[in-house]
Amino acid sequence: MKKAGTPRYDPVPIGEVAKPPFACPPDPLSLFGARAQRFEALGADHELAAYLRFLAGLAKAQHRVQEELPVPALPPEDVRERARAFGLPPLPGDRFKFEPTLAATLEGLLARAAAVEMPPPARAALERLTGADSATRERMVRSVLTNSLPIETLAEHVYVAAALQVHFARLAAQLNPDRLVPIGKAGCPVCGGAPLCSLVVGWRTAQATRFCACALCGTLWNYVRIKCTLCGSTKGISYQQIEGGSGTVKAETCDSCYGYVKILHQHEDPQLEPVADDVATLGLDLLLREAGYGRGGVNFFLHGY
Ligand SMILES: [Zn+2]
Ligand SMILES: [Zn+2]
Repeated sequence: MKKAGTPRYDPVPIGEVAKPPFACPPDPLSLFGARAQRFEALGADHELAAYLRFLAGLAKAQHRVQEELPVPALPPEDVRERARAFGLPPLPGDRFKFEPTLAATLEGLLARAAAVEMPPPARAALERLTGADSATRERMVRSVLTNSLPIETLAEHVYVAAALQVHFARLAAQLNPDRLVPIGKAGCPVCGGAPLCSLVVGWRTAQATRFCACALCGTLWNYVRIKCTLCGSTKGISYQQIEGGSGTVKAETCDSCYGYVKILHQHEDPQLEPVADDVATLGLDLLLREAGYGRGGVNFFLHGY
C-alpha cells in the first residue's frame, strides 16, 4: 500500500510516453481527504449546501476512521487467481461477507459521524443505526451491495455505504493492478460494481484518456471514449450539459439503452472529483430525467433524489 502523501499515480519523466494503465486501485489515505475538500468547496455556494457540507463531514470521518483500523484481509491468492481465470472480479461485492474489520469500520465511522453537523433526519438515522444490532447492520450491508435499498431506510444506508467504501478501498489498494482483467461490459475490475461516472483525465501517463470510476471501491479503469458504459453501444451516443454551466461535467446519453452516465472532464478542471461532483450536478440528472433518460451511474449519496 502507498504511504499517505505520495501521489496516487506514479509520475513519468517528461518526454517519456507511457501506455495508460488498465486499472488504478485507489489510495484510501488520500481518496477520502480529497473528497472531503471537494465537497466543502462545492458546498460553499450551492443550493444543496447543507447536504454537501454534511457529506464533507462524512468523507472526513471516512478518512480519519482508517487510523484506528486493522488492515483488512484479502481473499487468498489462489481464490483471486481462480476468479481471474473465469473473468470474475477478485473482490465481488455481491458475494461479500460481513467480516469483523468491516463491522469495526462501521462502528468507528458511526462514532466519528456523531460529531458531524447534519440535518435532523440524518441525525435521527445515525442514532437508529448506532442502536441497531449486528444482524440489522449485516442486512443493510447486503442491501447496499445488491443495490436493493428499502426506501424507508435510505438515510441509514448512507452510513453503511460510507463504511463499505472505506473497507473496499482499503482492500482494493492491496491488489496488484497488473492482475486485474476487464469484467463484463463495464464492471469494476476489482469488485464488479457498475460505474459511478467516467472521467477524462489529464495525467501525464494517460492524457485525455477515459476511466470509469467505481462507486464502491474507488478503482478507476480504462474505457474507450464515445461508448456507452451501460450497454457497450457505440451508436447513438451524445453529450448533454446544463446550459450556462462550465461544461466540464456532461451526461453521456445512449439511444440504444436510453440510459446515461456522467462524464467529468478532469483534464480541463483537475478539481473534479467523481462522488462529490456527481452529487453537486444533480440539476443535470433532473434535466435528463425530463428528457426520458434513466440514470445508470451508481452513487450511494444520491439514492432517492
Ligand atoms: Zn469497485
Ligand atoms: Zn447504452
